[in-house]
Amino acid sequence: MYSVINQIQIDKKKVFIRVDYNVPLADGKIADDRRIAESLPTIEHALSREAKIILGSHLGRPKGVSNPGFSLLPVAEHLSDLLGRDVIFPEDCVGDAVKKLAGDLREGEIMLLENLRFHPEEEKNDPHFSKQLAQLAEVYIDDAFGVMHRAHASTAGMVSHFKEKGIGFLVKKEIEYLQGLLSKPAHPFLAIFGGAKVSDKIGVIENLMNHVDVFIIGGGMAYTFLKARGVDIGQSIVDEAKIHQAEKILKRAEIKGVQVLLPVDSVLASDILAGVKSRVANNGEKWDGLKALDIGPQTIAGFAAKIRQAKTILWNGPMGVFEVPDFEKGTFEIARAVGESGACAVVGGGDSVLAIRRSGIADKMAHLSTGGGAMMEFLEGKTLPGLKVLEA
Ligand code: AMP
Repeated sequence: MYSVINQIQIDKKKVFIRVDYNVPLADGKIADDRRIAESLPTIEHALSREAKIILGSHLGRPKGVSNPGFSLLPVAEHLSDLLGRDVIFPEDCVGDAVKKLAGDLREGEIMLLENLRFHPEEEKNDPHFSKQLAQLAEVYIDDAFGVMHRAHASTAGMVSHFKEKGIGFLVKKEIEYLQGLLSKPAHPFLAIFGGAKVSDKIGVIENLMNHVDVFIIGGGMAYTFLKARGVDIGQSIVDEAKIHQAEKILKRAEIKGVQVLLPVDSVLASDILAGVKSRVANNGEKWDGLKALDIGPQTIAGFAAKIRQAKTILWNGPMGVFEVPDFEKGTFEIARAVGESGACAVVGGGDSVLAIRRSGIADKMAHLSTGGGAMMEFLEGKTLPGLKVLEA
């Protein structure tokens, strides 16, 4: 079990909160501030307890070197606007200057450290770097669900230095929803998976086999499953190494009475290009060496009908190459069906969440997860390193 920030005595103490401010930037401006907004309940709670707040985050992949293009400065400014108070922003996340600033923090003051990944030691979970971070505070709170599947200095290494540690409200909400899916889902429970990589999802499918009534598999990963069923998939994306496992999953589902819906038709083209010539073809027809880049109309109708019957839905991964308008229809139609289903829907993964937002139905979802990889590892039954270190 984990302590939640409101169960920990943080009054007037120095509290390090690991947040996930890995926000999209466009021309140096924040393109979507959702991650910052979602951290506010935890920060506001700490403020109400007059804590001295030190926030740590990464932004992008600066590969261990300082790079102004990945500076958290725009985030510090935006956070300051949202909170209506100053946010101290040092030039680094460790070192004497930062240590002094942390030591001098007054009650109710906030400091956001510069990008943790400007130091290669962060991702290496380096003990010395971890200790330097830990020395800044007396209490550790993790509210960055999206990186909890990573054992980095700020999510794992530094935590061993704290007696008082726990999770923030954002992580609490994530865990409650995901645990709810595994422990008490309303049936029918339907899990929809898509995207290109089979390897990321196969473990989750195996673990969910005892929980769900129906799997819907679309997107690039579906063609590995179709190949396992002996369908000719032309030049569609396939993970040859996973065909055998896909075959085993299909057999197990049959034995257990779990339905697996795969595409029955697909939109085919020679290349992933806007404006390229495309056509719809059924399974079993000649695909002429073309690639399936979206699910077809019959598939959309079949998937949507199942989705409408569901009481609980989990969705991760797009149904096609939705970044190209020619191949976006399947993903957006499925998003709409999920929105209209009235089911308790939990959606994770950047692509699926984006599709839901662009469809304007985000408010119809029970929960949009801030973690793609972390959500999948949790549902796979793995212990997330960032949670393990917080176990009391
Ligand atoms: P993943 O990271 O595994 O969730 O994959 C997401 C990516 O899968 C997106 O960028 C999509 O463009 C891609 N994708 C979805 N369907 C297909 C497909 N049929 N063929 C190739 N790529 C696909």
